[in-house]
Amino acid sequence: MSFVPIKFAGSDIPTVEDLRNCIHCGFCLPSCPTYIATGHELESPRGRLHLIDSVRSGRVDINDRLLGHLDLCLQCRACETACPSGVPYGRIMEDARASIMANPKSLQPRQWRLRTFLLRYVITQPIILRFAIFPLRIYSKIKLQNLFRNHISKWVPKRIADLEALIPEISSKSFRRRGILASPEKISARVALIMGCVQGEMFPQTHEATIGVLEELGCEVIAPPSQVCCGALHLHAGDMQKSRELAKKNIEVFEEYQVDAILVNAAGCGSTLKEYGHLLREDNKWAKRATVFSNQVQDILEFVASLMQNSNLQKNLSTLSINVTLQDSCHLAHAQGIREAPREILNQIPGLNLHEMRNPDRCCGSAGIYSLVQSEMSNEILATKMEDILTTDSSIICTANPGCTLQLQSGVRQSELDAEVLHVIDLLYRSLSQK
Ligand code: SF4
Ligand code: SF4
Repeated sequence: MSFVPIKFAGSDIPTVEDLRNCIHCGFCLPSCPTYIATGHELESPRGRLHLIDSVRSGRVDINDRLLGHLDLCLQCRACETACPSGVPYGRIMEDARASIMANPKSLQPRQWRLRTFLLRYVITQPIILRFAIFPLRIYSKIKLQNLFRNHISKWVPKRIADLEALIPEISSKSFRRRGILASPEKISARVALIMGCVQGEMFPQTHEATIGVLEELGCEVIAPPSQVCCGALHLHAGDMQKSRELAKKNIEVFEEYQVDAILVNAAGCGSTLKEYGHLLREDNKWAKRATVFSNQVQDILEFVASLMQNSNLQKNLSTLSINVTLQDSCHLAHAQGIREAPREILNQIPGLNLHEMRNPDRCCGSAGIYSLVQSEMSNEILATKMEDILTTDSSIICTANPGCTLQLQSGVRQSELDAEVLHVIDLLYRSLSQK
């Protein structure tokens, strides 16, 4: 690729205040999956912060090598958890990417342009997304998947086989219901549900489980029909403009409903929805409304864990005598600081043995579309994760995010492990519905 000098531009340039929090102590290095894999300073949080600071202060122009270091970051935010100085690494990286994209003179790498196009014109358009997923649905349904995996995969290049391994066994139906999804006789709370873009297409059963559990807890559940994609993938890719546009639309839609909480069952979406206040902080018309919206958002697991103790739900759980391990989704553990809720829920299920893996909060290599655009590093990280999972002897791997589920399903297939990958809420609902 040719050298293209690029400076940061636009209104989202990483701030000196955020950057100067870094005291270069290096405590974050052992928690960073890309530093662990490579041992290179420039593939570590501290190294990347140094690069961003150098561009910001004008000491360095952006070039392809520098972009490569930024692109290899998973944006898993494990470094934020490890940092004693409170460096908001996720925000700095999002701002850096946005400031590269905002430079009108820049020729962004082809990969960035393709990513922006896909995120803008496929992921946010339900009909186009459904159309794009349709061939995969057929591929699953007519068992071509089995044929490829059992016979053809040995004869094609490894990259093709690796990409194919990411294709989940997609259920024949997507989740399309909107409006009032549950209305129990005795209502304890009124909640609105974020339907997401991928969850309903790939994992409709997780929406069914979410609604079933909430109904058991006495919640009236509403899915506003006009809601749109949360904009998380756009934000991580630096497309702030689209992310803000989607955030405003969602705020407008959810303001029409008087609810006790806005719930989401995808941790990656939840972390962005909770940050709408920050995303729109400079916009006089939207800043306050965005903060009100964000304050209402809760991950389904934190909401359920908080209600479970004082409900009848526990009494209605049936025994599941299984070994389960839990992968902390990065955007639940590191971005939202939620670690106890999934464990509390799993520990309530009679007979269930929660067997913790080594480093449960280390990224599995999924990271949105990272597994597609950085497949080599993603697979290396996944291989380490599968080694950790294997030692737990679990038949079920729990997560809290569709991207992690897809990635771990791929890991299960590649390591020929006899295990299921489920959202925590799926497993809770299984225990509930077996009564
Ligand atoms: S976000 Fe994750 S991959 Fe990126 S620097 Fe931090 S720990 Fe490393
Ligand atoms: S980001 Fe935090 S942990 Fe990492 S070097 Fe800077 S101050 Fe230390």
